[in-house]
Amino acid sequence: MTRILHRAIHSRMPVAVGGKGIELFDAGGNAYIDASGGAAVSCLGHAHPAVLAALHEQLDRLAYAHTGFFTSEAAEGLADLLIEDAPAGLGHVYLVSGGSEAVEAALKMARQYFVEKGEPQRRHIIARRQSYHGNTLGALAAGGNEWRRAQFKPLLIETHHIDPCYAYHLQEPGESDEAYAERAARQLEDKILELGADEVIAFVAETVVGATAGAVPPVADYLKRIRAICDRYGVLLILDEVMCGMGRTGTLHACEQDGVAPDLMTIAKGLGGGYQPVGAVLLSEKIYNAFAGGSGFFQHGHTYMGHPMAAAAGLAVQQVIRRENLLANVVAMGAELERQLTERLGNHHHVGDIRGRGLFRGVELVADRASKRPFDPKLKLNALIKKEAMARGLMVYPMGGTIDGRLGDHVLLAPPFIVDRADIGRIVERLGDAIDAATRALSN
Ligand code: PLP
Repeated sequence: MTRILHRAIHSRMPVAVGGKGIELFDAGGNAYIDASGGAAVSCLGHAHPAVLAALHEQLDRLAYAHTGFFTSEAAEGLADLLIEDAPAGLGHVYLVSGGSEAVEAALKMARQYFVEKGEPQRRHIIARRQSYHGNTLGALAAGGNEWRRAQFKPLLIETHHIDPCYAYHLQEPGESDEAYAERAARQLEDKILELGADEVIAFVAETVVGATAGAVPPVADYLKRIRAICDRYGVLLILDEVMCGMGRTGTLHACEQDGVAPDLMTIAKGLGGGYQPVGAVLLSEKIYNAFAGGSGFFQHGHTYMGHPMAAAAGLAVQQVIRRENLLANVVAMGAELERQLTERLGNHHHVGDIRGRGLFRGVELVADRASKRPFDPKLKLNALIKKEAMARGLMVYPMGGTIDGRLGDHVLLAPPFIVDRADIGRIVERLGDAIDAATRALSN
């Protein structure tokens, strides 16, 4: 009997005892292909020798030094590497221990930026429905997933939500991508004007929506329009790439593919590949300069921020990605994954949409393809798929949820960047069988 308070108190989870490459092993001797990298975390797979060596070396030299007194070689090395390849204008790094901490810090940086600039009246955050930005109260407030928010609502800071850019459900039949991008982005402008243009701090969005929707990329030009609207009203753009960033979509940052650079960017998960908990905010020069020329510091901090072990893990993982040219594999194997998913599931009775970028792919399940009607959430199709997949030695990340009754169950795939064609074949075969078994059980 476990004494750990898990997410699902009564679920009996296998005990993980080892991992190697793309597989995890449990205490019962079962192997699982980690086709979701946990939750899009394990980008190098498990037990990568170069990362293990870097961590052993760091531990021998220095496990911890508080950032109130010291910086460290590992933290400086990671920051330098991140800035080398950062989107235009992002010249500084704030290191934390995970995604929620990164989002929390970014929200506070955005607010303090305007206080430093003498615009303390700016107080509104705008985000999107059906997004997830973390579970701390500020990040949860920005998120637009009611299932996660509902119980905590009186405690959440007031945020405002517009629709996501979600072509499968929200693009009208016959509407061009261009017209849809314009219509979806206009919601932001309308919301800014409704709230008062000089009272809005920031707009927060996942570049490619992850956990709550299943790898939903924006249509072409949507983010460019969003950037232009933010610039028009002096509103900061925060892109949350905690899940979709650090190479997952085939470019180091997902927003590179949209030709957009934010004012603040949050990263985590694949940054340290699960070898240590690490996250970061990349911030623009103008925000850094406002702090430097104002109060002189950012009013924030956590005991473990910039932890040398976490920074060493991040540095080692990012160096391996560059040295082994893994982004090229993400692009090639991402296309292969899309091809095989389409071949196996494209005509499936209950598969409504297959989408994503690189090795970040989503499969959306529907009760009826023509109307895109989701399965009744009470049937918990996503949990059934997870169970069927685990029984076949496959880890995928299934989720359910609704937006105005429209979003149903989906499966998120985020395999390690080291997968090859044969691995993809095994993943798709097991996933296809799991979806067949789960949907058949519900149809009976
Ligand atoms: N932002 C996004 C887009 C995420 O997907 C997540 C986690 O899934 C978070 C923030 C929160 O990250 P963490 O769970 O590391 O706190």
